[in-house]
Amino acid sequence: MLSVEEARQQMLESIPILPTENRGILECSGYVLAEELHAKENIPPFDNSAMDGFAVRSTDVKGTTKENPTVLSVVETIAAGYAPKEQVSGGQTARIMTGAMMPDGADAVVMQEVTELVGDEVKIFESVERNENVRFTGESVKKGDCVMSPGKVLRPPEISMMASLNCAEVTVHQKPTVAIVSTGDELTPLGEPLKPGKIRDSNRYGMYAQVQNAGGIPIDMGIAPDDETETERIFRESIAKADALITSGGVSVGEHDIVKNVLTKLGKMNFWRVAMKPGKPQAYGIIDGKPVFGLPGNPVSSLVVFELFVRPALMKMAGHTDLLRPTIKAILETDVTNKDGRVNYMRAILTEKNGQYIAKTTGPQGSGILHSLVLANGLIIIPSGATLQSGDTVDAHFLH
Ligand code: AMP
Ligand code: MG
Repeated sequence: MLSVEEARQQMLESIPILPTENRGILECSGYVLAEELHAKENIPPFDNSAMDGFAVRSTDVKGTTKENPTVLSVVETIAAGYAPKEQVSGGQTARIMTGAMMPDGADAVVMQEVTELVGDEVKIFESVERNENVRFTGESVKKGDCVMSPGKVLRPPEISMMASLNCAEVTVHQKPTVAIVSTGDELTPLGEPLKPGKIRDSNRYGMYAQVQNAGGIPIDMGIAPDDETETERIFRESIAKADALITSGGVSVGEHDIVKNVLTKLGKMNFWRVAMKPGKPQAYGIIDGKPVFGLPGNPVSSLVVFELFVRPALMKMAGHTDLLRPTIKAILETDVTNKDGRVNYMRAILTEKNGQYIAKTTGPQGSGILHSLVLANGLIIIPSGATLQSGDTVDAHFLH
């Protein structure tokens, strides 16, 4: 049996990074940049005032104090969006607004709060240094600079930066489309009455939401019965439609566990048992160059295996380089033992107390008890064979 780290590494090595596409600035949030972005313009494009105030020659107001003010004559008012008409000579100033273009002759701005306007003159009560309260051409970004490199995730600041560079379109990696299939004769979709022996199909909806959360585009392919021919048909259709396929159920050792057979028939199965709890039986393989994840049927196992394996894989496909959630240290608030030969990903509530994370498990941890995840905001990682007491430290990570 492979460890989580071994299995994940093997799996990630075989995951393709998707090709690129061009996207408009309003449709690229959350995508990963696939090109270098160079500034075609300076930011800011001209010297401008950082304050509402008066543009002065700093030598004119040298030594100015509250008790010993300087009086200057105001030649014009410069609003943001307009070019100055006058130049500022000795003994003169221009009233200027934040973001307005600096007039020739002036080299600093005195803020309005330390001035008093009287007719067409202004009394200045404080001196300023040369360049004070001025934002210079190209001080944020110089024309020609490389502003972002491939691999950068386009968040709101990056999109704002694109706009300030007059960049209306970028080359990004495609987001993966992901076909989702639940398997099992017992599964009933929402809205239909439950017949004896049947249960609700919960995994398909959970996987759908997980794909969305991981930045993928889910495609619902419905429920596959425990029938090899029909499952094969649905697999083929899924692979034709999507960049990846995720299934739930049918990967254990039961008589009706046919996902592995179909996967082996249509492509190549890479491994199917990982030393972890929940989620030991799982299948991973490739059909037509597209990754296929056979998640376990138990609802908690399905969600946890997605979190540990499928999420990083979908992120790699989308061009991300930072694939795993950060591991943090947390202090146990309860005793925990793991007699199993497999690492246990227990569902937990992580809270911060005095600069440290405290972990409390979320009650019964059976792999069918969805509530253990509904209550949790994180997973704590309990090594195989560990007997831990309240106060001991464990590795953990958040689920968001
Ligand atoms: P399997 O691996 O197919 O034997 O499924 C293991 C357990 O998970 C069984 O109790 C199934 O009924 C349950 N299960 C499988 N698929 C789903 C699903 N989509 N939603 C809820 N429970 C499921
Ligand atoms: Mg089944």
